[in-house]
Amino acid sequence: MKIITKMKLQLTAMLILTIVMSLLIGLTPVINKKKISEHFYDYIKNDRINNLVIKDAKGAIIYDGGFSKDELTRESTFHVVGDLNGSLPSSLLSTYLSNDANISLLDGYHSEQHTINLTIDLDMQKAAYKLLKSSGVNGTLFVADYNTGEVKTMVSTPSVDVKSKKKAADKAYLNKAAQAYTPGSVFKAIAVGALLEKSQSYQSLTFNCTGKYEEVSCSSAHGTVTLEEALYKSCNCGIAKFVSEHLTPEELNSFAKKAGVKSTDLMVDYPVKAGEVDANDSIRWSSDGQSKDLVTPVTIASYYGAIANNGRRQTFYYQKSNAKTSAKRIMEFRTSLFLKNALTKGMTNWYSTRFNCSCFGKTGTAETGRGTDHAWFVCSLTDTKAPTYVVVLMLEDGGSSTNAIKMTARFVNNTILGG
Ligand SMILES: [Zn+2]
Repeated sequence: MKIITKMKLQLTAMLILTIVMSLLIGLTPVINKKKISEHFYDYIKNDRINNLVIKDAKGAIIYDGGFSKDELTRESTFHVVGDLNGSLPSSLLSTYLSNDANISLLDGYHSEQHTINLTIDLDMQKAAYKLLKSSGVNGTLFVADYNTGEVKTMVSTPSVDVKSKKKAADKAYLNKAAQAYTPGSVFKAIAVGALLEKSQSYQSLTFNCTGKYEEVSCSSAHGTVTLEEALYKSCNCGIAKFVSEHLTPEELNSFAKKAGVKSTDLMVDYPVKAGEVDANDSIRWSSDGQSKDLVTPVTIASYYGAIANNGRRQTFYYQKSNAKTSAKRIMEFRTSLFLKNALTKGMTNWYSTRFNCSCFGKTGTAETGRGTDHAWFVCSLTDTKAPTYVVVLMLEDGGSSTNAIKMTARFVNNTILGG
């Protein structure tokens, strides 16, 4: 009996060993497409990529094998990180999962951790999300360093909670920072840039605004304005007159293109939607950012960042591994200086809202043709005590730009300078 029992035990042990061995052979990571996709879907089901860690600029954890337990972290970073369903094709996780080179990490048999370091500041990201959410309107807040190209904040509302069982509305999946909208008066700095790139002599142009010029109108008569005043007082008639008299539609289109309006690669690791400008339709309204003009908030940040950076555009990036150091000149230094001075006067003379550092900026109230307006505000910080950031706030159907300035000032003062 004892011998039989011993034999049985040996057989059982051999059987177990055989099963274990065959399992091990079967589970050895084999790089083939079928296996990869099986593993891929297994991990999507469990909502985890065990070995992947995503950290913010200061090392704070955004993703650690799975999504954060903190709802604010998840919702505020959704349009940067994305989800495991590929709902946001431009997002970090979607592009990461579509790269075969990263697939072996998904099999779970690699013990080494793979960390992706972002340039995004999680504290700023959360503060921007809370600010937008409390505003009662939807929009986007985008912040980047115009010297280095690092994206610090990219928030869009409404957002998506990846842990929620309830499917979010389709529009929540759009990253508004990378979508194109009617820019309104924030476009005027592009129109003036186009004029000065043709001839610096246009700096001395003047015009008497009576509140109406051809098909264009101002809410009230601005009186005699120089080119500089037409820009910072946002005189539609003045800008329309100067541009239509001295530029052809092709010349305005061409500079707008150089300014990045139609570019999709202003961020190296996040494609933005190509905007539009067609000055042939109405060069006057087009110079004021209406007509067929469509521009993304990232493009506006890129252009106003270039003004602050003495005419050189830095390509944006949000993953540290994509750092680029070369900037491209898109306008003469003299043009950038003129725009910077004019838009600084706009801040000190025109807007009563207080920013706790020197900066230049521009408002935009863009008529959408649907009876609503997009509210824009863009500013570049130029204070030696402040980081070299460009900040763009766009409130979709958000009404007057006054609210956009106030919200931006709160963000700059409390979060960027106070954080
Ligand atoms: Zn006017």
